[in-house]
Amino acid sequence: MAELQDIFQNYGKNYREKYKLTLVQHKAMSAIKNCRTAQLGGHKDVCESCGNTKISYNSCRNRHCPKCQTLAKERWIENQKTNLLNIGYFHVVFTIPDTLNLMMYQNQKELYTLLSGYA
Ligand SMILES: [Zn+2]
Repeated sequence: MAELQDIFQNYGKNYREKYKLTLVQHKAMSAIKNCRTAQLGGHKDVCESCGNTKISYNSCRNRHCPKCQTLAKERWIENQKTNLLNIGYFHVVFTIPDTLNLMMYQNQKELYTLLSGYA
């Protein structure tokens, strides 16, 4: 099964030549393309008990990288499960433009009421 990294490695250069990317997009594409490859170097983990060693390539840790964020996403989902109510309901998570953060913070009751549809 092809991964996003495979697509970026095989077609990223052509894509970047054809389309202009923002700096953030370019950094994300580069990070994902190089994640857990020799490009980012590696490290050696050694078991303190038995001395067994494991050599791994370093992760990019980019927030857009599916390899790096899969574990974080699974941890987040598991953590959210502890907050679930014992009744049937929908739990919706979404983001808003960060330009609205201050307004949302200062008007939480009104805006959350609007978002809930019970205004
Ligand atoms: Zn990564």
